[in-house]
Amino acid sequence: MTVEGPVTGTGLTTGAGLTRGAGPANGSPEGAARHPATRSYESGSARVAPGWRERLLHFLLPAPCLACTAPVEGRGSGFGLCAACCGRLEPSPAAGLALPAGEAPPSCRRLLWGWHYRPPLDAVIAGLKFRRLDYLGRQLGEQLGRRFAAELAEIDVVAPVPLGFWRRLGRGFDQAETIAAAVASTAGGLRLETLLSRRRSTAPQSLRGGAERRRNLAGAFAARTAVGKTWRGCHILLVDDVITTGATLEAASAALLEAGAGAVTALVAARTPAPEEQICL
Ligand SMILES: [Zn+2]
Repeated sequence: MTVEGPVTGTGLTTGAGLTRGAGPANGSPEGAARHPATRSYESGSARVAPGWRERLLHFLLPAPCLACTAPVEGRGSGFGLCAACCGRLEPSPAAGLALPAGEAPPSCRRLLWGWHYRPPLDAVIAGLKFRRLDYLGRQLGEQLGRRFAAELAEIDVVAPVPLGFWRRLGRGFDQAETIAAAVASTAGGLRLETLLSRRRSTAPQSLRGGAERRRNLAGAFAARTAVGKTWRGCHILLVDDVITTGATLEAASAALLEAGAGAVTALVAARTPAPEEQICL
């Protein structure tokens, strides 16, 4: 099974906002632990913390669909979803469809995004972030790299939006980096570089409004010296998992441009729909 089918068109637009790990559909560690697919790996009454044991079982046992728990046949490239849930994924629309005014990270040349951040994709993102199912990040990145091959031809280097030190330490990996690595390798072997660091930890964004997110993130990123030396004037692809208001992408992009980058294009797997686009599920 593959999601190549539903992923049609090239959702190339300008503008939109992104914030890692935000939005009502984003899930939470608690939410992920309650997920039926997670429960299937629990041992007795003791909850098994997401880690190597769960990931091993996920590959050894017939895996339930991450969204609906129906059996998934084969590993394929279907994001851990059954065929029915795969068919419900909502890819971004055709190229050239502009996002609503005011939603764009102003300093980004354009925004490329893969799918609407609605069920069942929220279960995929939660599986990647909170259950450390790394293969989901690779599959997302590979699909994005193939889909946007034409747009990525003008990119010089790929850089993930970094997690804060403590959050990365707690999570054990950086989901944006996993996606970015797959995008880079799929798009003709682009160079993947860590070009940003977090100056300070920022509080979780999920319950903040747009203006508050921007204040929370102001000055949160610092560009590495390689931006001004090796990559001065170059076109950087900035990769993250989810965009909500765009505050995170804007802060990261601004730091790169200030340090000497020539242009920044943002690429995210999922875009949280604007309020007027949201539907009741
Ligand atoms: Zn399903």
